[in-house]
Amino acid sequence: MQQPFTIIIVGGGTAGWMTAAAISSCYKDRSRFQIILIESEDIGSVGVGEATLPSIKSFNDQLGISEPEMMRRTQATFKLGIKFLDWGRTGNSYIHPFGLYGGPNNTSEFYQCWAQTSTRRSIPELARYSFAVQLCENNGFKFPSQNTQDVASTFSYAYHFDATLYARFLREISENAGVRRINGIVDAVRNDPDTGNITSVVLKDGQEFSGDFFIDCSGFRSLLLQKNLGAEFEDWSHWLLCDRAIAVQSGQQQDIPPYTTSTAKEGGWQWRIPLQHRAGNGYVYCSNAISDDEAYDSLLKNIHGDVLTEPRFITFKTGRYKKSWSKNCVAIGLSSGFLEPLESTSIYLIHIAIVCLLRLFPAHANKRYAALSDEYNRLIDNEYERIRDFLILHYHMNERTDSELWRHCRTMQVPESLSQKIDLFKRRGYSESFKYGLFSTPSWLAVLHGQGLQQAGVDPFISSIPAEQLDSLLEEVSNMIDQGLVDLSNHGQFVKAYCALKE
Ligand code: FAD
Repeated sequence: MQQPFTIIIVGGGTAGWMTAAAISSCYKDRSRFQIILIESEDIGSVGVGEATLPSIKSFNDQLGISEPEMMRRTQATFKLGIKFLDWGRTGNSYIHPFGLYGGPNNTSEFYQCWAQTSTRRSIPELARYSFAVQLCENNGFKFPSQNTQDVASTFSYAYHFDATLYARFLREISENAGVRRINGIVDAVRNDPDTGNITSVVLKDGQEFSGDFFIDCSGFRSLLLQKNLGAEFEDWSHWLLCDRAIAVQSGQQQDIPPYTTSTAKEGGWQWRIPLQHRAGNGYVYCSNAISDDEAYDSLLKNIHGDVLTEPRFITFKTGRYKKSWSKNCVAIGLSSGFLEPLESTSIYLIHIAIVCLLRLFPAHANKRYAALSDEYNRLIDNEYERIRDFLILHYHMNERTDSELWRHCRTMQVPESLSQKIDLFKRRGYSESFKYGLFSTPSWLAVLHGQGLQQAGVDPFISSIPAEQLDSLLEEVSNMIDQGLVDLSNHGQFVKAYCALKE
């Protein structure tokens, strides 16, 4: 009888269990596909990563996961975007929403219409014309409408959840689908002397597991990709200077906002992520700008509610491995690289890596993977670089004067790809659009505009539209948004009714 194609996943954090759940749901026949996940309870997982992006919903939907059940089990709340405080300059505030600007029929050109009108007369801020921003500002929540004529169809949502509970939830799904879980520490990795492909992993207790394909989800250790296969790391820390974080949990406040809060500070920035039962807080900072003690003191001063846990100090290096698929091994999650959590992109990158891997999955024993791995690496590179530029933008576009960190970020040379994007926006308010991947035009708009970049001109097509037509468009959109906010539910109450744990 033919041996099953054996997939070995090393690591059981968010990356490991998301990967196990997705592969086991695609390849269901265990006589042909065996999936083994090895994790170590002694080592544990990084345990942070609580804010997500809207693509997580489609990941869960594809697995047939019930949303209220997932939210109940992970103590989740809804996330409609991120509120940025003191970014750009001290005292500044804006929201990067998971939504568009304008009404349902005019989102693509709305910004230009708004910009053109604002040169002629005083009008409300751009944020007034985003339904998602208005939901955030009103602490409200409703599901997006399926009716494309409804202003409530112009946004999407993600979740804040307890990352450890989410991994546990996915573990249950994976084990029910026949994934075999082993608790143990991988101590050695063996390779085929001819091809260099990985053949097995050996645990500390001597057990050996042979496989055809290996997925490295071992977190920052990058046990297979880096330690065994020697993958080359591309360091981006000269652009993204933060290299440490402290995380603590605190008690929840009465009103639970439907957004993450990110506050820029002297040495970096602080996050607040509201869950049902508690909040996650952390300070991401640059160790050259402030010490661990200073960062900790600063974090504690800005926490609402009681601090519930001891601080966790995490050190990281920003960048990614140039090839996250090498030979018969793909690294997914922190083992493939890390971009700081400013826009909550890591779990998204795990999801995308899984989607790309499943599209290109070898599915039978083979010694040559080059065509598949080259394409995979190209797709993942593209994602990483786009996100990198977007993150750098937040730091670069600033007028803060409170520390050398911010002065340096303002004047540093940024990647050419980012300079071009900033230049295009300055000249025309133009932003590149594409169908797949992060981040699309409204996201760039939110940050560029939110952090105060003024454009010199508008799209010439828009300048030919009569002023009265633009005025009535703005009025129509703001009326639609007001209508959409009538009878809005408070986010905390909505969550309670939809998915709270029963007492
Ligand atoms: P880990 O969680 O570290 O899991 C590694 C696994 O490998 C563990 O199970 C461990 O036991 C196992 N392992 C390691 N070595 C061995 C061994 N020798 N033998 C056996 N098993 C082993 N992402 C977001 O999307 N949103 C956020 O808001 C966000 N915030 C973050 C904040 C900070 C400060 C940091 C550092 C990261 C954040 N992330 C965020 C990233 C997110 O935490 C990770 O992408 C996510 O948790 C996936 O981690 P992982 O599974 O790759 O690694």
